[in-house]
Amino acid sequence: MQARILIIEDEEDIARLITLYLKREGIESDRCETGEEGLEKLKDNSYDLLVLDINLPGIDGFEVLQKIRKNNDMPVLILSARREDADMLIGFGGGADDYVTKPFSPGVLTARIRAHLKRISTEQNHGEASLALFRFGDLIFDPTHFSLKKDEKRIDLSRREMDLLLFLTRNKGQVFSKEQIYKEVWGNEYGDISTVTVHMQRLRKKIEINPADPKHLKTKYGYGYFLSIEDSDEN
Ligand code: CA
Repeated sequence: MQARILIIEDEEDIARLITLYLKREGIESDRCETGEEGLEKLKDNSYDLLVLDINLPGIDGFEVLQKIRKNNDMPVLILSARREDADMLIGFGGGADDYVTKPFSPGVLTARIRAHLKRISTEQNHGEASLALFRFGDLIFDPTHFSLKKDEKRIDLSRREMDLLLFLTRNKGQVFSKEQIYKEVWGNEYGDISTVTVHMQRLRKKIEINPADPKHLKTKYGYGYFLSIEDSDEN
């Protein structure tokens, strides 16, 4: 079944970019520029997921979400310029399912949207999971639920660490330079590239038995990083 997404975003460039990336994945989307318009569309149409910007002309994303949640439990992914806004919506019962902060990587956003859609279709298909789990030694990474577990114990990853792991997992075996990773995961062309190294070190500490001699998050000297893992069919 073809998924359909509604995007409420007043910035045309951003909306166009998301639409383009979704289209490449075979996901159809409608777009509107204001919350009021979005609420109207939601009355007459059925969507599988909503991408919702916080800062909108007219009523803002907070208010839109509040109104939607009265009678709709569709997944809502927040686009926010400020992390605190999104944290509040997720952490304090605002009813959002996920968020990305601007600037974001359209590739990562699309991956997250796909994961949510997969989760819904999985739930509708009586728990038959279809996104593969990945193993890192004793650890199991479940991209569908953004969870990393060791012996049933959840390992906490920051949002950025999760995005980095998701990106490398989806492109496993492929070597990426720090610049490429920064562009894809941080969604920026320019910035402090050394943050990639810092995040890789943190991820290694959480995932590798010996972070100094990584078995999974590997360095290809002179090129960059890549992920070496086995897919797991176990669901
Ligand atoms: Ca906006």
